[in-house]
Amino acid sequence: MVRPLIAGNWKMNGLKSALAEVEAVNTALADYPDKADCLICPPATLVAAMATKASARLKVGGQYCHNKSSGAHTGDISAEMLADAGASYVIVGHSERRDDHAERSAFVKSQAKAALQAGLIPIVCVGEDYQQRAKGETAEVIERVMRKSLPELSENAPGLVVAYEPKWAIGTGEIPTMAEIGEVHALIRRVLIDAYGEVGRSMPILYGGSMKPGNAAEILAVPEVNGGLIGGASLKAADFMAIYETAIQ
Ligand code: PEP
Repeated sequence: MVRPLIAGNWKMNGLKSALAEVEAVNTALADYPDKADCLICPPATLVAAMATKASARLKVGGQYCHNKSSGAHTGDISAEMLADAGASYVIVGHSERRDDHAERSAFVKSQAKAALQAGLIPIVCVGEDYQQRAKGETAEVIERVMRKSLPELSENAPGLVVAYEPKWAIGTGEIPTMAEIGEVHALIRRVLIDAYGEVGRSMPILYGGSMKPGNAAEILAVPEVNGGLIGGASLKAADFMAIYETAIQ
């Protein structure tokens, strides 16, 4: 049994005033049994403040980290800095970063390695685009990108999460069929076991892409879906907690 993880990705949204949502998430979590992990990845400017406000049940993560721990990289942020600010996870290889900043899988792998070295759990994102799905290339793309993006794991690694995020489903309101999600998640599990052995069986595999309170129950019931990476619907505590509630049923 893999412990579910419900993770919010605030992307480039949120000023200090948005931290009011954290109070609401803390309050809601206190009422739910501790049967799933809950994480919010705010913009880097809010990581430290969020970590201070978050209860022990709410984890905080970064949305990106450099692959070096420090140095002449203006505007960048290291995994060590995120950990120092109170983060325990970091998203790497999100398709928006792969597209906007030309982050290739080899770089994603080195980011995940840097995250692990800093004691952070990397959430490695993979997903096909619309054309690749239309051409029947989804499985090949997912496996290839995973094999290039996954880091080696040492014995004391804090963990690793994979998020399956079909690019065409992100922010569009469209989602794959449950059978399509199930096929990709089963493939991801096979690749994780092949790459890491037994430990690959317990790594959470998240679905991401237009997950909302209205479709979460159906998606989270698909075998090998161990939680969600949620963008738009994570910005309001009420929606985010409605999804969390589904995960603990
Ligand atoms: C995301 O960008 O990680 C995401 C899943 O976004 P949304 O939920 O808004 O589709």
